[in-house]
Amino acid sequence: MSASEPVKGEGNPFEIDVNEMRELGYHVVDCLIERLLSAREIPPVRMHQDEEKLEALRKPFGEQPQHARQVIDAALEQVFGNTMNLMHPRFYAYMPAPGNYISTLADFMASGFNVFAGTALHNQGAFEVEQQTIDWLGTQFGWDFPSSGLFVSGGSAANMTALAIARHVKLNGINDRAVVYCSTQTHSCIERSMILLGFKPDQLRLIEPDDCFRIEATSLEQAIHEDLAAGLRPFCVVANGGTTNTGAVDPLPAIADVCERHDLWFHIDAAYGGGAILSREGRSIFAGAEHAHTIAIDPHKWMFQPFECACLLGRKQHWFQDTFRRLPAYMRDTDVTGELFNYRDMGAQVTRSFKAFKLWLSLQVYGVDCFRKAVDDGLELARYAQRRVDSMAEWEVITPATLGVITCRFVGTANPDEADGINQQLAHRLNATHTAYITTTELNGMTVLRMCPIHPAATTEDIDQTFDLLEEFAGSMESVLGDR
Ligand SMILES: *Cc1c(COP(=O)(O)O)cnc(C)c1O
Repeated sequence: MSASEPVKGEGNPFEIDVNEMRELGYHVVDCLIERLLSAREIPPVRMHQDEEKLEALRKPFGEQPQHARQVIDAALEQVFGNTMNLMHPRFYAYMPAPGNYISTLADFMASGFNVFAGTALHNQGAFEVEQQTIDWLGTQFGWDFPSSGLFVSGGSAANMTALAIARHVKLNGINDRAVVYCSTQTHSCIERSMILLGFKPDQLRLIEPDDCFRIEATSLEQAIHEDLAAGLRPFCVVANGGTTNTGAVDPLPAIADVCERHDLWFHIDAAYGGGAILSREGRSIFAGAEHAHTIAIDPHKWMFQPFECACLLGRKQHWFQDTFRRLPAYMRDTDVTGELFNYRDMGAQVTRSFKAFKLWLSLQVYGVDCFRKAVDDGLELARYAQRRVDSMAEWEVITPATLGVITCRFVGTANPDEADGINQQLAHRLNATHTAYITTTELNGMTVLRMCPIHPAATTEDIDQTFDLLEEFAGSMESVLGDR
């Protein structure tokens, strides 16, 4: 082979005609906008998936190219036609996450420009955005110093990163006797983190909460005393900043005191509830959060961001680096000092997408006040739902509206043994109308309906029509039962 013979000719096999690029892009944007505009017409969930469409997705990839527009249009039907519609204002399940259009564009940009958010060198624009957004989040929680932190995929990743840091900073290598404390209402991702970090199951101490599903500082401290007496090494408390079940917030100031007294890491899982920090009411609920060492928050929940967007906030940057920083030879050219640091040294990921950008862009475009108002509206709507349940004979509020979550239960059955099944049925029948989506959970051994009406477009009419249906179904089920 002579040197003048090119091994590879010019041309990128992934190149597409520039006109086609534009057309495809505009087409996708048009489809997104259409979906946004019809958010109310598309069911929040479909109770039956379209098996024919799913079957079409199971065919093998071909070696030859296909027409881009056709493949995209087929995906719109087969893939996106078979997903939950989280943009529906009556999507009340879990933590509704409708996203917002500006952040969607931000994701498109971050992906299109393929920003590498692992290093600061040659990347300082992205670095500044992430820094500034983290600092702003810390300020919301009352941190009056420059906050550190790291954007990650979700609350699960943020909590796990926090536990790894807490172990590194507090334990100095002790592992077997180390104990983490949280309540039985704490999100299951804490248990999963313990597995991933190599702890044994009994190293997580679950505390029974009080009647309002909040940890009592006295129960916490008692458990700590018992463990100390048994030669164990308590090192971390995970406080709830809004439980998934009921929105309960553990008594943060009292837990901060306990942590201070026993030299424990004070972590707050505010994955869901943290968004409420933007409202005045939320700020008072979160009083005491300023004492936390680390706080996990999911802007992809109550800050209206598309998935994935979560953040672990930490008081000191060196904690993150002490825990995670490694500098192999193949990375040394991008090492930085001084004001700059690399986010790849702060957590588990080296290659990182630019997740801060969507929050940053949407905060600027809409303005912070728009977010505050949207959170306030959600808090208010949950209270409206509570008042509505209060007004319904044969229904009970089980936990009052707390951080936008309310739980309730139909209690008008002659036979209390049937109540759990009936409430489960009620959720199912409501969801089968394809006009709303709620889920059930279990509290004090009872099946309850759980509702989180925080979609920014949800209205009091949405709440009323939802409960009209629930009442109607409850009435008809009662008469069936009564006939037996
Ligand atoms: C949602 C949630 C999590 C898990 O977060 P992901 O973003 O789903 O990984 C953890 N804790 C609480 C309190 C949550 O609400």
